[in-house]
Amino acid sequence: MLSRLNHLAIILQFNDCVFCQQPTNSLTGICTICSAQLPRMCPRSFRHLLLEHAPPHGERCFRRQRLCIAVWRYHTSIRWLINRFKESGNSHWARLLALQLSAQVLLTYRYHSMPLPDYLVAMPSTDKDWLKRGFHPAGLIAHHCGRLLSIPVAKRGLLWIKRLDKQKYRSRQQRWLSRIGAIKANRKLSGQSIAVIDDICTTGASFCAASEALHAVGARSVDVWSLAYNLGASRSNTSLLAVSALE
Ligand SMILES: [Zn+2]
Repeated sequence: MLSRLNHLAIILQFNDCVFCQQPTNSLTGICTICSAQLPRMCPRSFRHLLLEHAPPHGERCFRRQRLCIAVWRYHTSIRWLINRFKESGNSHWARLLALQLSAQVLLTYRYHSMPLPDYLVAMPSTDKDWLKRGFHPAGLIAHHCGRLLSIPVAKRGLLWIKRLDKQKYRSRQQRWLSRIGAIKANRKLSGQSIAVIDDICTTGASFCAASEALHAVGARSVDVWSLAYNLGASRSNTSLLAVSALE
């Protein structure tokens, strides 16, 4: 309890909205006016959207996952917010983003009447990304979500075992192919329900690789949590209604 109060006190020290720089009492660091303009996802699993655009083996993988959760759709404002965090590695930004994700998670699990997972695992960082940034963005978000939701975080629960080229230069098809069998999971996670955390979910290919690895070591269930869901240029005609539609 005391640690939770300390945590809130740290957040309260920063009382300017991260977007408009106006004073705000909001615990999330985003004032109500700015918050209302952000492309927030409905607090429901969006697995149906991932299934719609996945190749056959991805479809099989998504059907084994329980909940797919994201806080926002990946738009300009959200890209700025996440990039600001990824460029700075600032713990304040990590806490604000984890607070948003934790709130979305609680609402979504409550809606689907499902218990929270036993463990959180961060999507692993590639060596290249680690050297570039000097910190692990998904790991930092997982750490703060773990504290906010009182769920233990399994450190080094997942590991890349295949070298990947920079994903933004790859087609969707290549991205899926490159991730087959690319991640290994820790055997200690056998029999547990797990939530995998990443910053952005684009095709869901990395989440699928993580999910397959966890199921291979006997995980009971796998959920995937991200800050933003990137519908991508090829899916720009997906209506807002479909994005927020119930599964
Ligand atoms: Zn604002």
